[in-house]
Amino acid sequence: MNILLTGGAGYIGSHTIIELDKAGHSVVVVDNFVNSQPEALKRVEKIIGKTVPFVEADCRNHAALDKIFTDNKIDAVINFAGLKAVGESVAKPLEYYENNMNEVFVLVDVMRKHGCKNIIFSSSATVYGDPAIIPITEECPKGVCTNPYGWTKSMLEQVLMDVQKADPEWNVVLLRYFNPIGAHESGLIGENPNGIPNNLMPYITQTAIGMRKELGVFGNDYDTPDGTGVRDFIHVVDLAKGHVCALKAIVENKGLSIYNLGTGHGYSVLDVVKAFEKVNGLKVPYVIKDRRPGDIATCYCNPAKAKAELGWEAQYGIEEMCRDSWRFQKNNPNGYEK
Ligand code: NAD
Ligand code: UDP
Repeated sequence: MNILLTGGAGYIGSHTIIELDKAGHSVVVVDNFVNSQPEALKRVEKIIGKTVPFVEADCRNHAALDKIFTDNKIDAVINFAGLKAVGESVAKPLEYYENNMNEVFVLVDVMRKHGCKNIIFSSSATVYGDPAIIPITEECPKGVCTNPYGWTKSMLEQVLMDVQKADPEWNVVLLRYFNPIGAHESGLIGENPNGIPNNLMPYITQTAIGMRKELGVFGNDYDTPDGTGVRDFIHVVDLAKGHVCALKAIVENKGLSIYNLGTGHGYSVLDVVKAFEKVNGLKVPYVIKDRRPGDIATCYCNPAKAKAELGWEAQYGIEEMCRDSWRFQKNNPNGYEK
């Protein structure tokens, strides 16, 4: 298939290009680099040994998207584009709602105009709020999000569900990611956050390399085995492969489908710190801090539906995730900047 990746220069998108290419698909990427660098695509080209067709544009730009669909026959879209920093979304709610919502409104409008009605949407475990069921199945009701970023995901799921309901020719696949970490085994591409990292793994790698003094562990009084938060960390390459498998739902004309993409295992913050130290032979100094507002104690999924319907299952364990995250950080102490 010929697949348009919006936000394809970002962390998950760049890894997904590689897996789509391996599976024999062709891609077109559109990104405005608001949270990524052209260098990421250059490195993907190095890994796959071919050029990645790319358009630099904002997905809210109707004319630019229209031109992409006129110039290319697109069979399906994977929508990665969006702003994703939770803390920033609290400080700049309008900017987050405006970017994340409008970008999808414009995209879907252009898609239907061109008769392309297949979309895979990057959603998040955050839509479950404080989950009613652990491990979380797709039947678990959606919950109250604790920040504007989460609400954009929850609302966009609803928008896409309504679009599909109104026109059953649409195939809408909502992928609810758990906690992606890790990097491509080449060490060439990985997560490259701007400024002080919000997420656990980039904070750990930046502490290990000496950019940060110590990791702050946000709370050790949760109702979890060691008191620290438990999450379903998933290797980004496994997550990328999940998108290739999700194309099956489109080929089979499933209409609306929703899948959790996680490993099904919960690891605590301190489990991750210990695994990182062990596999990389390093020390990660940490201090226990107060709980971070909006955090929940435990979040991991039951990924059985994706296995049964898409034949997808995560292959990598926490040690590979820690090894590969570190390899990218070590090889690229300044991220994609030379
Ligand atoms: P990322 O920021 O690395 O990639 C997103 C890309 O979208 C960036 O390259 C950015 O430049 C681009 N972008 C943003 N707004 C755009 C616009 N208006 N027009 C064109 N390009 C635009 O993020 P990621 O980690 O690769 O995440 C991909 C998607 O998955 C996002 O939608 C994110 O919300 C979602 N998600 C991520 C995680 C995670 O932990 N990384 C978890 C759940 C869901
Ligand atoms: N966390 C932490 N210190 C940090 C960043 C995160 O202790 O510097 C904890 C956080 O409280 C949560 C887990 O690590 O329990 C995962 O947080 P992250 O922000 O990576 O993902 P989230 O699950 O919030 O989307």
